[in-house]
Amino acid sequence: MNLSGVNKKFILLHHFFGNVSWNTKYNIEFKGLNEGSHNFEFEVDNTFFEHFEESLVANGVVLIKVTLEKRSAFIKLHFTIKGWLELTCDRCLDNYRQKVKHETEMFVKFGEKEFEEGENIIWVLPEEHFISLAQPIYEYTTLSIPLRHVHPKNEDGKRNCNKEMLEKLNDYMHFENEEEEITTDPRWDALKKLK
Ligand SMILES: [Zn+2]
Repeated sequence: MNLSGVNKKFILLHHFFGNVSWNTKYNIEFKGLNEGSHNFEFEVDNTFFEHFEESLVANGVVLIKVTLEKRSAFIKLHFTIKGWLELTCDRCLDNYRQKVKHETEMFVKFGEKEFEEGENIIWVLPEEHFISLAQPIYEYTTLSIPLRHVHPKNEDGKRNCNKEMLEKLNDYMHFENEEEEITTDPRWDALKKLK
């Protein structure tokens, strides 16, 4: 068997798919870069999020500025994430644009395997010439989402929630509470007192 032929075919296929893949535009070719600082900019929108099945976000526009610091033994990446993401408001259930902002650092180290574990370290093979940032960009963008999803306040300090929907939800909640009161069995109350 001609192994070199097989390898060559594999490499060509890999090369071909690598070029047409959606995430190559989030790669940084670092091999040819001089030591020192280099700036990169990326933008993500709905076409980016649709590649992540588990994504909490489907829509948004986020700009990611990356400062790459190349050293002989490692690469340091500083991320600044800024933009908006479409979320569902916990109060009125309407969608709204959540402004997001996040800053973080990541280290790229070289080795055949992972020598140390860390949240912000990725290991790449010594012969590798690029780093793929699609996954880290997705994770950092998701991390920038606040815990509470609620419409932002307008100039008069009131939230831009859907008033009609809030009223409907309010009525429904009252209705639920009333039902609960009615269905409470008095015998249970007696038992609770015994405890
Ligand atoms: Zn709302």
